Amino acid sequence: MPSILADSAQRASRYLDGVSRRPVVPSPEAVRQLERLESPLAEAGESPERVIAQLDELGSPATVANAGGRYFGFVIGAGLPVALAANWLAGAWNQNGAVEVMSPVAARLERTAIQWIRELLDLPKGARGAFVTGDTMGNFAGLAAARQEVLRVAGHDFASQGMSGAPPITVIVGEEVHVSVMRVISLLGFGKDRVVRVPVDGQGRMRADLLPRIAGPTIICTQAGNVNTGSFDPIGEICDRVRDTGAWVHVDGAFGLWARASPTRRHLAEGVDRADSWALDGHKWLNVPYDSGILFVRNGPALRSAMAASAAAYLPTTEDGELMEYTPEMSRRARGVDAWAALRYLGRSGVADLVERCCVHARRFSQRLSEAGFRILNDVVLNQVMVSFGSDDLTRRVIAELQQEGTCWCGGTVWHGTAAMRISVSSWSTTEDDVDRSVEAMIRIAKLART
Ligand SMILES: *Cc1c(COP(=O)(O)O)cnc(C)c1O
Repeated sequence: MPSILADSAQRASRYLDGVSRRPVVPSPEAVRQLERLESPLAEAGESPERVIAQLDELGSPATVANAGGRYFGFVIGAGLPVALAANWLAGAWNQNGAVEVMSPVAARLERTAIQWIRELLDLPKGARGAFVTGDTMGNFAGLAAARQEVLRVAGHDFASQGMSGAPPITVIVGEEVHVSVMRVISLLGFGKDRVVRVPVDGQGRMRADLLPRIAGPTIICTQAGNVNTGSFDPIGEICDRVRDTGAWVHVDGAFGLWARASPTRRHLAEGVDRADSWALDGHKWLNVPYDSGILFVRNGPALRSAMAASAAAYLPTTEDGELMEYTPEMSRRARGVDAWAALRYLGRSGVADLVERCCVHARRFSQRLSEAGFRILNDVVLNQVMVSFGSDDLTRRVIAELQQEGTCWCGGTVWHGTAAMRISVSSWSTTEDDVDRSVEAMIRIAKLART
């Protein structure tokens, strides 16, 4: 074996062993040193050992420690060691997951992982699933399938005619739609300013009673897991209300859909199985390495027809369709391997524990911060907490100082006009001790900032 791989594995292990003991943010000096990686491309190459050594010596200290237990920014998983190890092995295999003949193992593991995830989320048996790069691409492919299908029903062949001569499609979103869905809406040619926005309640949930009357080709984008509050649109109710209209209901469930895998949280996502398509992330709550998103579509042929290229003589196909016939990508890494390994390791109960543990930690954050006199702005139903430390200015200062101090990392947001700090607990490695140390840093900094 080339010793460079063993060397790299050792460096990676050392990095992970230390990641919870260092500040979550890199020092300004470590970031400054990155200049040394940015020199002009030299005429002569360097030894592999030297290349890896430079990456580790200069790169590792400049990382954000989100592989540790005290990173609560955005919605970011930490990467389960078993999934990382599987990812390394898959990297060594260098398999292309486009078509089965390129890699029987990639195809089998992807199909198996998809099947397991479909069962965990209790989505319809016949739904077709595929791995994509992330939830954004899942939304993209899901809404592309929706576009194809609602236009087909209206008598228009989108694959051959495109938007030309197509009847307009009404796209309905909640006021709290995620920006990535808006990006997809724009990419797919629906027009950001043409969407119909449905008002939401105090937790950011779409008001099903305020859905517009539906006529003509319509796509409804719902959300399972609001990035600020963790709340869920009443997706089952929305599906029931529009059942006879032919509207396609899509679910953006980046992290929230995993609630379906937990007996104590699944009620939040009641009825999502009545939707038509679902996108979620592996790299958030399942804690597999980037980049890993998953898409399910009830009407598999609609997805296939939206994604399929014209036949090419050198590319195989099967009756059921090759993997790449269900995704925007052709060549693709064997993403199913990491997810298969994570799920094999966790089992059903392990996934449920992972989800529940994060929710319990989020509850602990909200309880301790509220006991310390700070205002929690959301109902903490999942893994998201929003806290105000007083005035907007004070809250912003606390966030900035906390980020610099390095015990933990949280980002900011604005909720109903009030500045807030977001705490998102999404990592397998967060312990109660991590929560307590982080809360103590928050309280200490907030009290100092007040004076
Ligand atoms: C993270 C997130 C997305 C985007 O997912 P990516 O994996 O970054 O593409 C979309 N919607 C919601 C609700 C999210 O939390």
